[in-house]
Order: sequence, then C-alpha cells, then structure tokens
Amino acid sequence: MAETVEARAVTRISHWIGGRSVQGTSGRSGAVYNPATGRQTGAVDFSTVEEVDAAVQAARRAFPAWRATSLAKRAELFFRIRELVHERREEVARILVSEHGKVFSDALGEVTRGLEVIEYCCGLPTLLKSEYSEQASTGIDVYSIRQPLGVVAGITPFNFPVMVPVWMWAPAIACGNTFVLKPSEKDPSASLWTAELLAEAGLPDGVFNVVMGDKIAVGALLEHPDVAAVSFVGSTPIARHVYETATASGKRCQALGGAKNHMVVLPDADIEMAADAAVSAGYGSAGERCMAVSMVVAVGEAAEPLLAAIEERIPKVKVGDGMDPESEMGPLVTREHRDRVASYVEGAPDEGATVVVDGRQGVPEEGFFLNPTLLDDVKPGMRAYEEEIFGPVLGVARVDSYEEAVRLVNESPYGNGTAIFTRDGGAARRFQFDVQAGMVGINVPIPVPVAYYSFGGWKSSLFGDRHVYGPEGIDFYTRGKVVTSRWPDPATSKIDLGFPQTR
Ligand code: NAD
Repeated sequence: MAETVEARAVTRISHWIGGRSVQGTSGRSGAVYNPATGRQTGAVDFSTVEEVDAAVQAARRAFPAWRATSLAKRAELFFRIRELVHERREEVARILVSEHGKVFSDALGEVTRGLEVIEYCCGLPTLLKSEYSEQASTGIDVYSIRQPLGVVAGITPFNFPVMVPVWMWAPAIACGNTFVLKPSEKDPSASLWTAELLAEAGLPDGVFNVVMGDKIAVGALLEHPDVAAVSFVGSTPIARHVYETATASGKRCQALGGAKNHMVVLPDADIEMAADAAVSAGYGSAGERCMAVSMVVAVGEAAEPLLAAIEERIPKVKVGDGMDPESEMGPLVTREHRDRVASYVEGAPDEGATVVVDGRQGVPEEGFFLNPTLLDDVKPGMRAYEEEIFGPVLGVARVDSYEEAVRLVNESPYGNGTAIFTRDGGAARRFQFDVQAGMVGINVPIPVPVAYYSFGGWKSSLFGDRHVYGPEGIDFYTRGKVVTSRWPDPATSKIDLGFPQTR
C-alpha cells in the first residue's frame, strides 16, 4: 500500500524542446529523490540520440531570427528575465531544496548569484561593443565585430542546478546563440522551471532547450555536427572526457572540473575568524560546492588553537531538512554519494589521519544525512587528501612554514580556489603572487568572482582556455571578425598585384 502511494507521488520530468514540454520515448529514466526524506519524488526521462537531435534542430531553426534580433530587444528581454527570476526566486529555491537538499537560505543565495550573471547580461549592448580604427591606411578603416557561434550546449552538475546553467545560457543567449542544456539527472526540475520562465519572459521558442539524460545525451551533444560549442561543469574525469571529445569533433569547449581547495592559515591570523570561515566554507551546502574549503593548512602554532576552535563550533551547526528555517546544513544529494563520502571517514584512521569529529554519529534515520566531520593530520598520499570528497568532511594538514603550505597548494593537481588567512598584507600579496589557482581569497574563504569577472580554475579544474561568465564568457560565446573597408573614388582604381601594405 505504502509503495502504491509513493508511486503515485512520483512526478515525471521530461524534456523542453522548441518551446514546449516533450515526453521522452526511450523508456529509460532516472530516479530523483528528496534527500531529506530519502524518498523518490520524480522520474526523469533519459533522452535518445534522436531527442537530442530534435533539440539541436529546434535551436538551429531558432538561430537566424534570434541572431538578427536587435541588441536593444535582447537587452529588454534580459531585464524581463531579471525581474521574473527576482520575483520567483523563492519558488525555485524550494525546488532546489526538494531535489538537491541544500537549505533554503543557501538555495536563495544560489539564485541570487545566478541573478548577478543575468544582470551582467542586461548590459549586452555594451558587452558586444567592438573596436574601430579610422584611417588605418590612407582611406581605409578597420573594425572588429563579434558574432554568435550558433547552437551551443551546456552540460551541468548537480550541485548548483540554477546558478551553473545560468553561467552558460545567460551569456550564450545574450550574445545571440541558441542553447541546449543537459542538466544533472539528480536534480533536473530547476531547468524546466527556467525554461518556463524564459518562455514567459518572451524568449522565442527554440532559443532555450533542455534535454534530460545521462551519458547518451552528453555523447550525442558532443558529437553533433550542428553544435558549435560546449560548456561543461562537473567532475574532473568527465570534464577531461568532454573536452577531448568535443574538441576532437571540432567544437570550442570549456570544461570545468573538480577541486580540492586549500585554506592556508598563518600563525598571525585571527584564529576565531579563520575558524568561522573554515566551518562556513567546509560545511556550507554539506561541502557539495566546487569552491568549498576541503583542506585547512595550519601553519606552525596556528594548528592547535585553530583545531580547537573548529571542533568547538561543529556541534552548533544545525543539520536538518533544508526547509526547516533552523537548519544550516542539509543532507547529501543521494544515498550513494553519502556512503561514498562516509567511506573517507571510515578509511582515515588506517591511513594515519585522526577522526576528531565523526559525522557518521547521530544522523537521522531518514534521508541522506552525514554530520560535519573533522579529520586531523591529513597528509599527501592519503585518499582523504588526494581525492575530492565533496561532502562535509574538513581535513587539517599541519605544516611548519608558509613555503610548505604554498608547496601543498601548488602540488595539488587541482587549482580551482584557494584562500589565505593572515593579518600580514605582505604575506597575502606574496601568496597571491605564488599560488597556482584560478581564484584566490584573502581572508575570504569562498572567492567566487562577482559577475563582471570570470570564474575558472587552473590545472585539472579547467580544460580549455576560457573561464565562464564575465568578459571571458562573452569571448567564449562569440567569434571575432575583422572588416577592412574603403570607399575610394572609382576613378583612382588600378590593378596592383603586390601584397597590400599599410601606408
Ligand atoms: P559529474 O561529473 O558526475 O556530472 C556532471 C555532468 O556530466 C552531469 O550532467 C552528468 O549527467 C554528466 N555525466 C556524468 N557521467 C558522465 C559520463 N560518463 N559521460 C558523459 N557525461 C557524464 O559531476 P556531479 O557529481 O554532478 O557534480 C559534482 C562535481 O562537479 C564535483 O567534482 C565538483 O567539483 C564539480 N563542480 C565543479 C565546478 C567548477 O566550477 N569547477 C562547479 C560545480 C561543480
């Protein structure tokens, strides 16, 4: 009986192609859960190669008219999108909580950071301005223009179901491209919410499409001859695969991968402030952020007081259902992911690390919860050090000097974000100069750049050479054309077989 009731409550989640909802035909689907209860709430269609093609063709048909739409009209539409997202942010935040598990305030924060990117794109007429050189040669003017690529695709991870797609579709569409999104199959509903909102705002049919699915949908996008560019955000092995496959098919590609972010704490730092930052950035969103602090690197005598201050704060973190206003940290996204994260805690003592706080204790029976966990003496070579855990497990590495701390950061194969906590401006300046990571925080634990800069890591955290959103996002979604023009008196025209020179 209970099973029948549950089956009835499962919502079917389908594709969005050419401005309408389209049910999948593959017969394959994935389960979507409410991570706080552990119960299945949805079944998401997995698309076939033909369904991906239908989405790409819808985008292809929409491209000529969208590309020709004036910048003024596109900007006006972006202002409408901005207003609608702002008005309905609580609605989508609830969707995020119900499928991802993050707490409501954090979900609202995600939507707000996404809104910043939409607001940046409202300035698209300015962003697409080009350069003009009058009289580059006698009577000759030269100017550059940037034009959209055509149909572009975005493939996104589970951890920011609104914000990460916005990083892609907003600049792509602002620049005149049409878009096909393949969101994470774990929490897909926010993408359909976005599709409906964009339609309500007046975006023409086919400019924004969503195909649900797994690696079959991804493969079809990567190899589709009508897809000009692919943006990807997810784990490093898949990012590498996406980059290699997309570029082998002649596409432009930016593929953002995983991370293992180090937060260095120098002995002169304000220890209470550093502990607040480590707890906030380590356990916020249950550690399921690519910019989460995963390793605290305590230099010299910072270690003991810092560890004590973090340990003291952990029992005060309120873990629970994301819709409970008291909750500060929710569950993990799936049972499998929770169990994988817990396996790092299980294995830590065998590798020589100390489990200071064991988050496997005292978790609710329902749902995919793991409480904040603290490991000490985590060192290179250990699984808990080398691998991205992507859960509420904070490791502490103790080092003797600033140089050793920087060496740890720079020897990591990842280079997404890093931070330093210190009161010494010179040390901070040196860190910013020395460190090999794409985003650096100085007394800021999660240095996600504002929308008018660009987001991206180094090393195995990004394949490709353009970061997302901001000026580099505009670059990524456009290609340059340079026009050389003259309007001479035809009477002066003559044949000249020499190579044109400027004079
Ligand atoms: P994931 O790599 O498992 O999935 C990302 C996307 O790839 C999803 O749409 C998924 O359906 C697809 N995918 C999964 N396996 C595939 C396969 N074998 N072939 C083709 N496509 C496949 O990542 P996730 O678990 O959804 O998200 C967490 C990861 O994303 C973490 O590693 C995190 O660090 C990373 N992330 C990075 C950033 C960044 O900006 N660098 C931001 C957010 C998340």
